[in-house]
Amino acid sequence: MSKLKLATVWLDGCSGCHMSFLDMDERLLELAELVDLVYSPLVDAKEFPDDVDLVLVEGAVASVDDEKKIRKVRARSKMLVAMGDCAVAGNVPSMRNPMGPEAILDRAYIENASAQQQIPCVVVPKLLQVVRPIHEYVKVDVFLPAAHPRRTHFTRR
Ligand code: SF4
Repeated sequence: MSKLKLATVWLDGCSGCHMSFLDMDERLLELAELVDLVYSPLVDAKEFPDDVDLVLVEGAVASVDDEKKIRKVRARSKMLVAMGDCAVAGNVPSMRNPMGPEAILDRAYIENASAQQQIPCVVVPKLLQVVRPIHEYVKVDVFLPAAHPRRTHFTRR
């Protein structure tokens, strides 16, 4: 039997959902019998591949890069899981929505900077005006709400 192609993606989240995924401990070995991890922050693949069977997405859509990435991921995946409350509902990243991105950038790079006070225009992706959950951009097949998910959310035990 060929293995399923599994991917995990990290948008605007704290990586806690990925830590929960790893918290399956020895059950990861059982999972490895069933899937090939083809793309993830946990592996070295640089480009999201075609024909992924299942993708777990952590985090909300907060930047232009996030939006581009989630659209590509959706187009190349058969089943997409919104993993955790940030992906499902915006959660912590969306707390900046009432202030807007300019106030956040000012606070981080001007007011709180002790040297080289300037808002970056390269490397740091352009922030969207509001942070939104991923289902507002692409179809989500499974919602896995929790902040953060526990190991039992990923297994039957
Ligand atoms: S749902 Fe919780 S653990 Fe997951 S990315 Fe958001 S804040 Fe972090």
